[in-house]
Amino acid sequence: MNFSNTYACLNEVFYEKTHPTPVLDPKLFLWNSSLAEQLMIPDDLKNDPIALAQVFSGNHIMPGSEPIATAYAGHQFGNFVPQLGDGRAHLLGEVIDRSGQRWDIQLKGSGPTSFSRGRDGRCAIGPAVREFIMSEAMNALGVPTTRCLAVVTTGEPVFRDTPVPGAIVTRVASSHLRIGTFQFFAAQGDHHALKTLCDYTIKRHYPELQEEGPNQYILFIKKVIERLIQLIVEWMRVGFIHGVMNTDNMSISGETIDYGPCAMMGTYDPQTVYSSIDIMGRYAFGNQPRIAQWNIERFAECLLPLINVNTNKAIDQVGPIITEFPNRFKQVYMEMIEKKLGLTSFQQEDQKLLFSILGRLKERRIDYTVTFDLLTKSLMSETATSQMKNELEECFDIWKRRLNDQDATSKEVQKLMRKHNPVVIPRNHHIEAVIQECEQSGDVTLVEKFLQVLRSPYEELEQTSQYQDLPSDGDKDYQTFCGT
Ligand code: AMP
Ligand code: MG
Repeated sequence: MNFSNTYACLNEVFYEKTHPTPVLDPKLFLWNSSLAEQLMIPDDLKNDPIALAQVFSGNHIMPGSEPIATAYAGHQFGNFVPQLGDGRAHLLGEVIDRSGQRWDIQLKGSGPTSFSRGRDGRCAIGPAVREFIMSEAMNALGVPTTRCLAVVTTGEPVFRDTPVPGAIVTRVASSHLRIGTFQFFAAQGDHHALKTLCDYTIKRHYPELQEEGPNQYILFIKKVIERLIQLIVEWMRVGFIHGVMNTDNMSISGETIDYGPCAMMGTYDPQTVYSSIDIMGRYAFGNQPRIAQWNIERFAECLLPLINVNTNKAIDQVGPIITEFPNRFKQVYMEMIEKKLGLTSFQQEDQKLLFSILGRLKERRIDYTVTFDLLTKSLMSETATSQMKNELEECFDIWKRRLNDQDATSKEVQKLMRKHNPVVIPRNHHIEAVIQECEQSGDVTLVEKFLQVLRSPYEELEQTSQYQDLPSDGDKDYQTFCGT
């Protein structure tokens, strides 16, 4: 692999140089061939599962790779922790893909680093498989996300509640720069490192800002806000609940990162929380926009000293940008929902229509994905029409009238809706069944079959119907765990 590492070229305050801890018996468990193609993994490596297991367990460090554990801080559930960092991950380096895009290649679960705070630096197979499935599903759904190239089992147990098989995930991300990375230096008052980090990030993710002179840090905040809004709106579109939107889990590039206790919402309810540790529901489905804004405020605070040495003046400059967040969010959200509803332009009363549909789903505990799938189908199917009429009653009629007033054929509307309404999502009960199979038998047949369906979420494949069923209890008691 052709590494070209830029982050490791920065000063050592940004990371610790450290190697993965070798594992006993690495075996390639899941492999993402299309991503491997994109990354131009050399043929001799790609075709050798033993070599792949050595490389993507961290047992063999390839030439050009300079493993580091990156430093970051973060607000966890609202409480600031000045030092977190990669406690169980190693950034192997960066590679350039077929289209010229730069990617971080990171191992997760590859052993302790100086950021581990006494923990084992390892990852269990369950969370590793979950990250692989969820990120593949999100990518296919069209949601910006980090991806997984591989899951390698280690042949060693990790000790959680009970001993479970250990695994290492290879994560591919457009970078691992987080809001928490900026907080790490801001909290230390290290303005020099902060400026280096901002300039590095701008060059890597927002190069168009380099020409903007002293204004660039303000514009940088604006760009990050825009990407984050686009991201959260996409989460809301597909019903994704991240579960742990701590500032260290918020990527500056606007990708979904750190698939821990994440899950998909079934029945529509903004208060849905599945994470066992989110007792207060801070990261509930419907809170995600508000939390994104809170996180952005923490990010903007870090940049104040670079914007103006006079803090009050800097706040005067940044304040209005932050205040704009809710309006801008609403605008992007409404544009997304219009498409889900097949509306080609926005009219004032559409908001009322949307709220009455969502209100009805909540009140009757109706599934979010199924509803929008059936609405899409109702344009061409009598069965779907009567089902939706039955469930949405007058909302359905209002929606139909609104569509009829549009200057678009049913076929065009259906095409628009289908692009935004999946037929299948990674439902929690299927994820759990597949993970259990991986843990117990070590067989990948089920997970591969599931992935095949999830990779075409807008199409009804032969096997799709096997994954569209709803959980018997509506996920009422479903819980996810951090997997640490
Ligand atoms: P996460 O909940 O995965 O976002 O992790 C939060 C922090 O805890 C990060 O600094 C991680 O590196 C660290 N961490 C999580 N699990 C482990 C582990 N098993 N060993 C060492 N550090 C960990
Ligand atoms: Mg994290």
